[in-house]
Amino acid sequence: MARVYNFGAGPCTLPLEVLEEAQREFLDYRGIGMSIMECSHRGKAYQAVHDEAMNNLRQLLHLPQDYALMLLPGGASMQFAMVPLNLASADATADYTLTGSWAAKAAKEAAKICRVHAAADTSLAQPARMPEPEDIRSSGNAAYLHLTSNETIDGTQWKDFPNADIPVVADMSSDILSRPLDISRFDLIYAGAQKNLGPAGVALVAVRRELAERAPKSLPSMLRYQNHIDNDSMLNTPPSFPVYMLMLVTRWILKTGLENIWRQNRDKSRLLYQEIDRDNFYRGTAHAQYRSEMNVTFRLPSEALEKQFVTEAETQGLHALKGHRSVGGIRASIYNAFPLEGVKKLCLFMSEFRNRNAAESMPG
Ligand SMILES: *Cc1c(COP(=O)(O)O)cnc(C)c1O
Repeated sequence: MARVYNFGAGPCTLPLEVLEEAQREFLDYRGIGMSIMECSHRGKAYQAVHDEAMNNLRQLLHLPQDYALMLLPGGASMQFAMVPLNLASADATADYTLTGSWAAKAAKEAAKICRVHAAADTSLAQPARMPEPEDIRSSGNAAYLHLTSNETIDGTQWKDFPNADIPVVADMSSDILSRPLDISRFDLIYAGAQKNLGPAGVALVAVRRELAERAPKSLPSMLRYQNHIDNDSMLNTPPSFPVYMLMLVTRWILKTGLENIWRQNRDKSRLLYQEIDRDNFYRGTAHAQYRSEMNVTFRLPSEALEKQFVTEAETQGLHALKGHRSVGGIRASIYNAFPLEGVKKLCLFMSEFRNRNAAESMPG
């Protein structure tokens, strides 16, 4: 078997033992004579999978009873619309922190539904950074404050979250369950599964029940949280295979322990940032204080060298290191399931690449 180290930003590396378990159960799910994706979502087998997925998430998030949990189709991008549809009326204002590529997309979508106020804007900051909690300028009586906990493309991450006297909403797609979370700081969180929780095709939403209840009944059924809550996320046919995979991944997180996962994530990112900071050959694109533990972004002295770096890395089994096309450079995405050995191998490669190329690219 020749599996590579996949630094892809999402979809991305899944825990090997989860893939192996899914493979073992693929043709005949625990003796039912068919795959879990072939059986009815109204049957016992799928219901047990669904319940375990929901329970695992509740446990990992320490979700209090006054929060509802949903598993929804449409990815995180669907939530860019569902959040304002459910939480803000057309004449209301929502506050958005503009911190990078994903926050911008969320705000742009919300602007089709309600008024949007830029409560903070660090999107042009060089190096990239997040606002300090005290940088937030509220519009007054906004329906909610939206933030993006980890900017997947820009390589930045909130380290401390702002307090607000309005509901706080967070897109946690790229760092959900990568570190312990105090859910009480938020009134709604959402995340596409395909970074830390499983394959693409399902998104998690946790919301304070009283907020979801207030949404207008006139919303289309599939776009109203309360309908999904009332139907235990089975308003229509759920994405059963992604939910099954998410169940296995959350079981793996529970078994490993969130504190251990977080320690590994810090170790992995620290190793990479140390290698970047060794001299001026590599240059991190994020301000040191806001560097992401999930997406490590950096530049080389020239675009030609970056291209060569990506190509040579690939021949060594280090895949998908090319930065997002909108920003260029290099991005190493090292989510929960990405192994420490892969990071060590990348660090060695970086060191060796520097030795071979530094002299000619940086005279003096
Ligand atoms: C990947 C990502 C998204 C988009 O997720 P989809 O499921 O593709 O819609 C949104 N926000 C952040 C922070 C992301 O990393």
